[in-house]
Amino acid sequence: MSKFYSSLSEIKSGLQSSEITVEGLVKNYLSQIEQNAHLNAFNEVFAQEALQHAQDLDNRLKQGKTGKLAGMVIAIKDNICYKDHKVSASSKILAGFQSIYSATIVERLLAEDAIIIGRCNCDEFAMGASNESSYYGPVKNYADETKVSGGSSGGSAVAVQANMCHAAIGTDTGGSVRQPAAFCGVIGLKPTYGRVSRHGLIAYASSFDQAGPITRSVEDAALLLEVMAGADDYDSTTAQKPVPAYAADLKKSTEKKKIAYLQESISSPGVDAEVKSNLIQAIDKLRAEGHTVKPIAFEYLDYLVPAYYILVTAEASSNLARFDGVHYGYRSPAATDLVTTYKKSRSEGFGKEVKRRIMLGTFVLSAGYYDAYYAKAQKVRRLIQEKTDMIFEEYDFILMPTAPEPAYSIGKQETDPVVSYLADIFTVQASLTGSPAISIPTGNNNNGLPLALQLLAKRFNEQELLNFSKYFMEL
Ligand code: GLN
Repeated sequence: MSKFYSSLSEIKSGLQSSEITVEGLVKNYLSQIEQNAHLNAFNEVFAQEALQHAQDLDNRLKQGKTGKLAGMVIAIKDNICYKDHKVSASSKILAGFQSIYSATIVERLLAEDAIIIGRCNCDEFAMGASNESSYYGPVKNYADETKVSGGSSGGSAVAVQANMCHAAIGTDTGGSVRQPAAFCGVIGLKPTYGRVSRHGLIAYASSFDQAGPITRSVEDAALLLEVMAGADDYDSTTAQKPVPAYAADLKKSTEKKKIAYLQESISSPGVDAEVKSNLIQAIDKLRAEGHTVKPIAFEYLDYLVPAYYILVTAEASSNLARFDGVHYGYRSPAATDLVTTYKKSRSEGFGKEVKRRIMLGTFVLSAGYYDAYYAKAQKVRRLIQEKTDMIFEEYDFILMPTAPEPAYSIGKQETDPVVSYLADIFTVQASLTGSPAISIPTGNNNNGLPLALQLLAKRFNEQELLNFSKYFMEL
């Protein structure tokens, strides 16, 4: 196994003392990718290109003219557009499709000299929580290859976990950065909705989607957020708020905080015993350190998952209408006219989970049912937002598990999709409210599988969240 660098600053000091070169780093990651190809973390590796970028960067390092991310070798989830590169959202319907422009975040990362080593496997159109809905098959967890990676950014999380790159960028609609990070023992940050541009992400649910970093250190998460964040003319939902110097201002929190936790995350029979004891231990430690940690009852808990799935499927049914067999990627060879082009290309091009969600979303938006489902879910979303805002008037953070159980076995197919959807219970609150949330690794369970906890903060309080996470990681 090649050397693990816990943060970019470690890599930078190695580069400064000429102990290592960027080219050497990229070669190490490439060999790690090759040795672990069976984990299925990458849909495509940009080997030659990454090596060339590395050589160029090594030359520029000698002249001292490099960006903030020099030495940062990253992977991107395969639903993020990168000019002149393929992008598939792990779907057959986008097979062969090449992007003609780069996502704003990709441009910003490249402008600061990040090297993109490849595009990572994910659930098809980011719909899923185990990476098993990918057209290219599941991703195996590096901690135990019989277990799932989590999802939907499963490949990105495993790529970091197995040292196939230094960090990765995923997208999070209802937990897809945080939950795979939790399953793989790394950090996953979902920024506040509007903090990071969505331009160039393949849209799943536009009022939820946010890109976020998957890293091994809080420092790197702060740095990647700082580079990606900020207003963008191509995404009118980005906030005009100035971007703090998240990395430079990262200070291990020293203040005593007020932290709320969900009573149900300890009392519910649906939560794994070790996940519960992991949370209880953290609560005890925080209390011993003088923080105020109190249980709260969240009266809308049972409505989180239903409201989330009604809204995201509605948005997805509209967003995915563009994949019609005409504009992008796959067209059925059996198509004979316009209608069969649509029908056959979509029937053959989309997988089962995606079709299920398009149908559900179309149903909840249909004339007879719009008020009963979509409009109702919007109202519930508002109630959840207001209640969450009230909690943040009193508390600095909400603490909860990232997921109700650790990584489970690949192929443990649920016959009832609702059962799988319920496993998103802890991640969707921050998605419905647009709050920033981070998943922090907290060691392993008795079977050596990673455990994690999640912290939520008030919208745009990323700095405070990161500062406290830094403290929490070392607790
Ligand atoms: N598991 C959730 C879903 O399937 C979240 C996915 C995501 O965040 N992209 O919708």
